[in-house]
Amino acid sequence: MALRDIIKLPDKRLRLVSKPVGKIDAELRRLIDDMFETMYGAPGIGLAAIQVGIAKRVITMDLAKKDEPRDPQVFINPEILWCSEERATYEEGCLSIPEYYEEVERPAQVKVAYLDRDGAKQEIDANGLFATCLQHEIDHLNGVLFIDHISKLKRARVIKKFAKAAKRAEADA
Ligand SMILES: [Zn+2]
Repeated sequence: MALRDIIKLPDKRLRLVSKPVGKIDAELRRLIDDMFETMYGAPGIGLAAIQVGIAKRVITMDLAKKDEPRDPQVFINPEILWCSEERATYEEGCLSIPEYYEEVERPAQVKVAYLDRDGAKQEIDANGLFATCLQHEIDHLNGVLFIDHISKLKRARVIKKFAKAAKRAEADA
């Protein structure tokens, strides 16, 4: 396993639409292992493959609390089949937009179809933080970031801040 670099705003790759996974082979399993290591190392609770620069429809997640054993979950080619009209608001953050948090309103419940690590078809009903996290990560696969769900003014402000920071880093390099 290896840590991979997490790409950050304003990296244009974050806007790519990721491609469905065809075959679950050794290379994909290596990617999944690396994504877990990278996610735990960050630390974060969810990661989409595009955040390590790979435009494949793969998500890793672990919503276990600190005092609970790890609960690694993989979602390959996830698809939202249904979402509730009821909405829920959570404060979201993103490893690609570090140290920025904002409240986002989304459907409170979703039903998601996906392939597991062995390529078996699965369906899951999610609510609470799990539903929010799944929607946040599936958005990544479609080139959508959580800041796209906040006000235009706030979004413009955070994009500007990260663009400036990237320029500064470039100048220092
Ligand atoms: Zn994210």
